Amino acid sequence: MSKKLNQGKKAIVIFGYPGSGKSTQAVLLAEKFGLYHFNTGKFVENLVHDPKLASHPDIQREKKLFDTGKLMDSDFILSHTGRRVKELAVGGESLVFSGSPRAMYDAFGDKKHQGIIQILEGLYGKHNILFILLKVTQKEALARNTKRLICSVCQNPLLGAAQNLTITQCPFCGGKLYKRTLDDPKTILVRFKEYEEKTAPIIRELRARKFVVHEVPANAMPYRVFSRIVTLLS
Ligand SMILES: [Zn+2]
Repeated sequence: MSKKLNQGKKAIVIFGYPGSGKSTQAVLLAEKFGLYHFNTGKFVENLVHDPKLASHPDIQREKKLFDTGKLMDSDFILSHTGRRVKELAVGGESLVFSGSPRAMYDAFGDKKHQGIIQILEGLYGKHNILFILLKVTQKEALARNTKRLICSVCQNPLLGAAQNLTITQCPFCGGKLYKRTLDDPKTILVRFKEYEEKTAPIIRELRARKFVVHEVPANAMPYRVFSRIVTLLS
């Protein structure tokens, strides 16, 4: 009865400053190990723009918030992400998360709601959840964010390395590259602060609950960081 649905399956959660390379590592891990990359931002964006759901009042309300860049209701996000995570786990997927949970409530819920960590623990078992914290200096993260370009079509990021600064088209699909407003230096400083105040406490709480959070130095090029993570996994 206590047999887990997902024997041998894993959930990996990556933490780190904006610009620490979370999604890059998540994409690399997903490719190499056949994991499902759960990109919460993308999931929420698709959810509120789903034409089949457009008549629901709560979707309309949240779409308005999303489209104007305002903070969305955390219950709304948690209930939908929780539901989707359960579907994926029941379908036998191993998951990798980049960029969520973002705040204590998303992670641990409250008396009435389970957070993502409890949901994962129930579905995968405590020992099959791996936490990775990408350690970069704020200086490095800031430099990467301000140089980062994103493909408007495939959403792939272009590394902020100097040799890439003259490129205007995505090397993967040829799409037009753009700079996200999220990556403006002023906005990034706000995001750093948000991370310290809202996300960093999750890591402290995980450690208090006897989860292991692996710190991986991440100032190096993504492929080198990736090989450190692969070593950690094997
Ligand atoms: Zn592209």
